[in-house]
Amino acid sequence: MKTFQDFTLHTHTIGFDGRNTPAEMVARARELGMTTIGISNHFIVHPDITKTMFYPHAVRGGYDAIYSSSFDEVIAKFKPHYAELNKLADKYEMNILRGMEVDFFEYPEWRIGFERALKILKPDYIICASHFIEYDGMLRNVHDFVNTDMINRDKMLGQYWKKLARAAETCMFNWMAHLDLPKKVGVGRENRWIGREHETMQAIAKSKTPIEINTGLYRPACDEPYPSPRILKMAAAKNIPVLFSDDAHAAAQIGRHFTRAYDLAKSCGVSKFLSCDAAVRSR
Ligand SMILES: [Zn+2]
Ligand SMILES: [Zn+2]
Repeated sequence: MKTFQDFTLHTHTIGFDGRNTPAEMVARARELGMTTIGISNHFIVHPDITKTMFYPHAVRGGYDAIYSSSFDEVIAKFKPHYAELNKLADKYEMNILRGMEVDFFEYPEWRIGFERALKILKPDYIICASHFIEYDGMLRNVHDFVNTDMINRDKMLGQYWKKLARAAETCMFNWMAHLDLPKKVGVGRENRWIGREHETMQAIAKSKTPIEINTGLYRPACDEPYPSPRILKMAAAKNIPVLFSDDAHAAAQIGRHFTRAYDLAKSCGVSKFLSCDAAVRSR
């Protein structure tokens, strides 16, 4: 089996919240005939991260290692991880890239800390994600959007979309991940969100930041990738470039649903597909 996009850049490994080692991920990508694999573990730094409603779930699930309270902590995690990737890159003929999936935050020290981390770690590319928002003085995970009333849920979702727009406007990221993430908990699928989505897509287009089509969602209750066809149509109309991400948390998930997602993208009018080089250079 060969996948039509011969690279994958959004993947996770053991030690963070993935289930396989980098070596196992590389082996699977090679088996699929890919030319490049990038490993992009979570880079999530917030001083209040352990106080969120969601944190105990992460501890129970055994993946709290993806959260850091300080930049020193996250740098200490990524240094040996990137050293391991460098070693693998020397061993295989395949391109092995060092990425990160970064939660963009707006507390005052975040930007300074992030830029310091970039100087030390020198990632090959940075994916922008937003698994959290700061709302009403508290940090909330997207999963927490459902643990509240309708009014607060709508306000949170409104803030989520605005935050994505501001993240794109920084032009710090290679591309935007899973744009309509809240739909994983069933939030935001109604047509009344089109206006808000449209404004964010406008900001993304203006910043010239590409987006990914993330095939990690496809499930019976929501049989589509991130983002939805209606957002893909906006991306097509605004000429926003796209790439495909499997968001693999296990080797068996590499390249999942790529062909299906490609067919969907084409049917939505998307025609600007990024090469691997262009994805890595897009920052
Ligand atoms: Zn993510
Ligand atoms: Zn991911």
